[in-house]
Amino acid sequence: MELNFAELAASAGRYLLSIHAAGYLDIAIMAYILYRILLLVRSTKAASLIKGLMVFLAAVLLSSVFSLRGINFILSRMVDWGVLALIILFQPEIRRILEQMGSRRFMAFFSPAAAADVMEQAISQTVLACVEMSKTHTGALIAFEREILLDEPLRTGTVLDAAVSSELVKNLFFVKAPLHDGAVLIRRGRILGAGCVLPLSRNANLSRDLGTRHRAGLGLSETTDAVVVIVSEETGTISVAAGGMLKRHLKAETLENLLRNELLPPEDGEDRRRFVLPDWLRRRTEAGKGGGDHGA
Ligand code: ATP
Ligand code: MG
Repeated sequence: MELNFAELAASAGRYLLSIHAAGYLDIAIMAYILYRILLLVRSTKAASLIKGLMVFLAAVLLSSVFSLRGINFILSRMVDWGVLALIILFQPEIRRILEQMGSRRFMAFFSPAAAADVMEQAISQTVLACVEMSKTHTGALIAFEREILLDEPLRTGTVLDAAVSSELVKNLFFVKAPLHDGAVLIRRGRILGAGCVLPLSRNANLSRDLGTRHRAGLGLSETTDAVVVIVSEETGTISVAAGGMLKRHLKAETLENLLRNELLPPEDGEDRRRFVLPDWLRRRTEAGKGGGDHGA
């Protein structure tokens, strides 16, 4: 027995030494893919599916142990088609992950500061509009795109290309205006679309007084790195969702500071964009553990 352990340890050691750089890369990529699959499994749909899959595999195993040839034959054939079935079942999720991977705006690395003044203008005009809409109790939902492109929600709305002005934003959310339902999307300091449908948050710990507008804002911030401003029609309060967290009851000044912090490049010239992905992943993990911050 001892000899076996020694042999095992020795061969494990030999194996570790024999791994080349490519091997480590291989392991890192596999770990990342496994992480994404685990994130997928966390959603309730996948969790019950995994349970069903376990029962199925147990049935295959038992039928083979007890030599139930007929049943085993049918179940084994079903396993062959299972992979295809899984791909079809998870088609929306798989598509979303692939789209997110392909939609990171790598070109932004080369021109991060180009749109800074446009962005600054967009922020101050948005804040102005939000403060007025808060006073008049006009519901609003405004998503600022960052690295992950918001092409998917854009497809559900009306495409625009306009400079952000407080008048235009108020006009878009004016109750009798055709585009007032849904979200306004902002890309690089310009209005990209309006009347867009955002994914609703699945967070079960959300406060009862938060309806679908807040859930939609929070939902987008869970699935992308967008920063979303929400003005409540019922209470007039201004909230911001980012990284799956919701900050509520914001004053004009706090809103402006928050948006400037999240959306403008840091002033000391240090390139913060490089760290957006790991930072975003960390925040997602923390949000998953602790739910959202629903306080002020
Ligand atoms: P409020 O405080 O403004 O009432 P709320 O969080 O209580 O907001 P609702 O009262 O349900 O939310 O708001 C409904 C409005 O939210 C809709 O008219 C629509 O404009 C917007 N909305 C609802 N769902 C979505 C969605 N999935 N994507 C974008 N906008 C949405
Ligand atoms: Mg409501």
